[in-house]
Amino acid sequence: MESPTTTRRKWIYAFAEGNGRDRMLLGGKGANLCEMTRIGLNVPPGFVISTEACLAFLDDPQRQLPEGVMGEVRTHMADLERRTGKIFGGAQDPLLVSVRSGSAMSMPGMMDTILNLGLNATTLAALIRHTGNERFGYDAFRRFVQLFGKVALGVPDALFDEQFEAVKDRAGVKIDVGLGPDELREIGDRFLDVVHRHTGRPFPTDPYEQLEIAIKAVFNSWMGKRAIDYRREFHITPAMANGTAVNVVTMVFGNMGNDSATGVGFTRNPATGENQLYGEYLVNAQGEDVVAGIRTPRPLQEMEREMPEMHRQLADLRNRLERHYREVQDFEFTIERGTLYCLQTRNGKMNAASMVRTSVDMVEEGLLTREQAILRVNPAHLEQMLFPRLDPKHRGQPIATGLPASPGAASGQAVFDADRAEALGRQGVKVVLVREETKPEDIHGFFASQGILTSRGGKTSHAAVVARGMGKPCVAGAEGIHVDVQMRVAFIGEQVIKEGDLITIDGSNGHVFRGEVPTVEADFSPALVRLLEWADQRARLHVRANADTPEDAARAVRYGARGIGLCRTERMFNASDRLPIVIDMIVAESPEARRAAIDRLLPIQRADFAGIFRAMSPHPVTIRLLDPPIHEFLPTERQLEDDMARLQDLRRAARGLEVLVESARSLGDRRAATTAPAFPDAAAIDAIMTRKEAILRKAQALREVNPMLGHRGVRLGLTYPEIYTMQVRAVLEAAADCVRAGVEVHPEIMVPQVCTAQELRAVREYLAAVQAQVETTYGVEVPCRFGTMIEVVRACMRAENLAEVAEFFSFGTNDLTQATFSFSREDAENKFLPMYNERGILQDNPFEVLDVKGVGRLMALAVEWGRASRPGLKVGICGEHGGHPQSIAFCDSIGLDYVSCSSPRVPIARLAAAHASIGSAARTDASA
Ligand code: PEP
Ligand code: MG
Repeated sequence: MESPTTTRRKWIYAFAEGNGRDRMLLGGKGANLCEMTRIGLNVPPGFVISTEACLAFLDDPQRQLPEGVMGEVRTHMADLERRTGKIFGGAQDPLLVSVRSGSAMSMPGMMDTILNLGLNATTLAALIRHTGNERFGYDAFRRFVQLFGKVALGVPDALFDEQFEAVKDRAGVKIDVGLGPDELREIGDRFLDVVHRHTGRPFPTDPYEQLEIAIKAVFNSWMGKRAIDYRREFHITPAMANGTAVNVVTMVFGNMGNDSATGVGFTRNPATGENQLYGEYLVNAQGEDVVAGIRTPRPLQEMEREMPEMHRQLADLRNRLERHYREVQDFEFTIERGTLYCLQTRNGKMNAASMVRTSVDMVEEGLLTREQAILRVNPAHLEQMLFPRLDPKHRGQPIATGLPASPGAASGQAVFDADRAEALGRQGVKVVLVREETKPEDIHGFFASQGILTSRGGKTSHAAVVARGMGKPCVAGAEGIHVDVQMRVAFIGEQVIKEGDLITIDGSNGHVFRGEVPTVEADFSPALVRLLEWADQRARLHVRANADTPEDAARAVRYGARGIGLCRTERMFNASDRLPIVIDMIVAESPEARRAAIDRLLPIQRADFAGIFRAMSPHPVTIRLLDPPIHEFLPTERQLEDDMARLQDLRRAARGLEVLVESARSLGDRRAATTAPAFPDAAAIDAIMTRKEAILRKAQALREVNPMLGHRGVRLGLTYPEIYTMQVRAVLEAAADCVRAGVEVHPEIMVPQVCTAQELRAVREYLAAVQAQVETTYGVEVPCRFGTMIEVVRACMRAENLAEVAEFFSFGTNDLTQATFSFSREDAENKFLPMYNERGILQDNPFEVLDVKGVGRLMALAVEWGRASRPGLKVGICGEHGGHPQSIAFCDSIGLDYVSCSSPRVPIARLAAAHASIGSAARTDASA
């Protein structure tokens, strides 16, 4: 028995009483309905059943609604009846409601909604009498029976569609607006039969029974496969959204005639960010028609002409929404006989380009501060703006054109269903999902596809909304395409696209091409440039790029890098004009022979460095001395042995040929002598074989059991001082050339794989000697800093000693992660990391997301100890984590000076650096 002091739990909140900020309790949609009611917008009356009720329901093994819920429902329904003057189940002017899901995080289309609830034979007759509109009444009824049947009673859609099509065919109409009241009534009756046959029971007629079943169905949809998949894919944890609320809302009708309409609006254009009311509407229709893409809606601009007063009210609604939320809103509205209602609003999902543009515009309009604008854009999201575009030089003709629904270009094999897309995607095949229209159950196909193409539906259809949210290119409503899912083909006029045929879509202009069209890098929009300037002003961390060539360096500058944090010199060695010289250097048996090869490399490296310095001037450039084990520059032993075997065959054949020619001559057979093919002579083959043999011997001699832990990095530099000395000379001479030419340079020489200060001291001696020579020869002072990578555990532990020699540290977290976990990256990622992630043993891939608890702690210690012996020691990171937003926040928190990452990630890192600064300032404020 309840103790008298226990207050009864409250499960339900009327829109006028709910707290518009409590999204966890009321769900996003419910909270916003409450908020909109509070600020005086015209929202149909309703109430929210809380997520707490949902969780209690799902916890109950019998799946019963918690005690008291239906009692509260009745009280609130009575309130709705009072406010609307209608009666639920009434025989005069019946009250109908919609039952909608809505959790704290928006999960478009993932859960269920039921419309027109409360209809039965009595209320239907009353509705028709009251509205004087038979067609409207029967239309509402058939929609209700289908939705309720599908969502609440589990009747497959196809069974309804069959009946619907049969009546349409018989009536000879193509679209549903062509159906008259008699056909619609017949459809309703057929639907009731479908439900009866499928469930074995008649369709429920008691409105409260309907309501209870519907509430349970919506709660259950939280645990539906679609919703679970969605939460997993988007990492929606229970702390972010736990259970769905149910919104019970008075129905208003957009299909009551030509003074009624329904639509969706964005307060700004979600594809471009342009500051204009944007959206689509359909006259005399219900909302589901728009979202499902059943009829292609019209742009809102047309409403200005068709329904000017409504358009004015809509513009006013838009302004009020934006002023209140200070965020772009995506709202649904219905016009019922000339009255505008706002049915829902939420923050608009936009692609990165429009997020950036609206952020900058909203600062200029005084709606946001610069800081808010920076925080509004998710750094990882910017990746989208670096999406490839179709090469503008491409002149091919599109085979079809649809609506540009989500920008970016993608190519892949055409596939016609989501399962197939998923299966091929898993095998690493690039696919484009081609559908007539998509439904929420296709979501797994979206994840696996490069892009989406549909032949029906508008820019607010399911396909468009979901693709935009995922940042995948989408062309929607390409009506010239006829998709035949059964035959796995699409017909476009005379053309046929079969499954597996390559196609390219351009979601920025709606074009569809046959084959794979080349793409080019994305441009920086003026808004992005602006936002990133603000980010740079706000960030403490500098962002550099990892770049190995003058071209890379120039690109890094375009992306806004303030220096190069890692130039991997071995990448220069691999170019085809250098590799033969590098091989000579490796195979050389004496220091003199090695020096001869090195002397040939010197001018080439010098030119590389001079190009990089000039491109990056006046920013610093960190050059890492040679790192990989040198056998990596040689062909593999297997390859060399194969080559030798073939050369031996050739040599034997060449020898045989010589014998043939000699014999023919001595035997006087002129024909054999003159028709014998020309072979390289055996001596030339011998010369090549001798060289190959030397390379093979060297490869065998250099063979290591575990090369990554073997003879590489500084160990190599100390074994072959000529190599490091040459590289240092090339750097300093290039710098001296620049200084003489008036180009500001800041070279930084960095030593890889260091574990002791003695290693560093030895390399510093080479540097000192070369620097003195170069400065004398060139007659200028050459600025140069000397530092070390920190990529082995011992280096972290000995940071204090290393900092006595090194003027800077740069964390090589690729190697440091391998060393800390004792995982080799390739083996880990190919063999067991996915399993570790699945079982929750590790949350992330530590090679992508910095392992803050292990690797990060070593870094923090190394920073602290390094700065203890050299205050002001400059510290950066150049492993891949340097471009990962979460890892950048950690680098900021431990006081690094810069992060360095690949050029295309530089903008992401710049924004992430600003986020990190703003976040740490906020934390400091909070703790003050
Ligand atoms: C590192 O180890 O993090 C690093 C940048 O060096 P590399 O990836 O070249 O080994
Ligand atoms: Mg490394």
